[in-house]
Amino acid sequence: MTTTPARQCGSCTMCCKVLGIRELAKPVGAWCPHCAPGRGCKIYESRPSECRTFSCGWLSDTSCPEDWRPDRSKLVFCPDSESRNVIVRIDAGSPDAWRREPYHAWLRNKAAQGLAAGTLVIVSVNNNATLILPEGEQFIGLLNAGDQIEAHRRSGPNGPMLEVKVIRHAPAPQTDGDVPAEAGSETHS
Ligand code: SF4
Ligand code: SF4
Repeated sequence: MTTTPARQCGSCTMCCKVLGIRELAKPVGAWCPHCAPGRGCKIYESRPSECRTFSCGWLSDTSCPEDWRPDRSKLVFCPDSESRNVIVRIDAGSPDAWRREPYHAWLRNKAAQGLAAGTLVIVSVNNNATLILPEGEQFIGLLNAGDQIEAHRRSGPNGPMLEVKVIRHAPAPQTDGDVPAEAGSETHS
């Protein structure tokens, strides 16, 4: 990852929609009431610490193509502080955005590279997760804060197979709210 002060959020405010902000009780997938979409944060000086510390993958990684900016791609690459997984939050207004090219091919390729090393690629639409696999995908369903996905290759009766396990730590499923592994956002440039 290369931090580049030259890259700025500009008119992107996508993370102010797709992420949950605990300090504001802002659910995943709803615009933050303090956001002026396409313009920025109306409480920028006093925004929560979750927002101050968040940088999406596009902002912090110069190898991510310029035109993948989240407001255009509808994909927000989120750092996962608890694992090396690639978590991509999708704008629920374009839930299939990740299936478009070149994103889909990139995700599949990343999944192929990561599986051997235990790094998973997960796309999430309003906390509904899909595990991307080199040969396809597996819908996981609702993933709450603290839940983890594990995937291991093992031998099966018909040859090698992938075993996927969801380890649930959240007390109960929620329809919205908590974000697994990362916080939310804004014009961080
Ligand atoms: S940090 Fe948020 S506002 Fe900035 S580019 Fe990423 S998604 Fe857009
Ligand atoms: S930076 Fe935080 S407080 Fe400001 S609009 Fe975005 S989510 Fe809301």
